[in-house]
Amino acid sequence: MRKEDCIFCKIANGEIPSKSLYEDNKFRVILDLGPATKGHALILPKEHYVNLYELPEDTAAEVMKLAKTMAIKMTGKLNADGFNLIQNNGEAAGQTVMHYHLHLIPRYKNDGQHILWKPGTVSSEELEEIQKQITE
Ligand code: 5GP
Ligand code: ZN
Repeated sequence: MRKEDCIFCKIANGEIPSKSLYEDNKFRVILDLGPATKGHALILPKEHYVNLYELPEDTAAEVMKLAKTMAIKMTGKLNADGFNLIQNNGEAAGQTVMHYHLHLIPRYKNDGQHILWKPGTVSSEELEEIQKQITE
């Protein structure tokens, strides 16, 4: 299903032009308009899923397969030194466009980006409690 007022539905299905890097019957890969680094791209499913919670399992597997192919191709063509895959789910996690997308971010030595988090601290009791909360 597509969503009438969703910009990424329109881009993925070619109703709004974008700089496409790849397209098949299920996905389009486009260059991000606010790139973190040179070549920052997004994998968009053509169907509307808000985020990972809604994405069907088989589609999730296909996204990761495509991400690997694109990462290898882009790293070679752009002469990148590394690569981040980033995927935000929900406002609290930084998602601003509510149509599932996976960020493909080529990284370059000294590119000035800081995509890592600030490490916190945790006690072994807290770790055990969290482990229980998730697994039990
Ligand atoms: P989020 O924060 O939801 O994970 O990422 C949304 C991304 O979409 C941002 O990196 C932003 O630059 C990009 N973006 C937002 N609107 C457009 C658009 O109309 N075209 C393209 N190509 N990228 C967009
Ligand atoms: Zn959509």
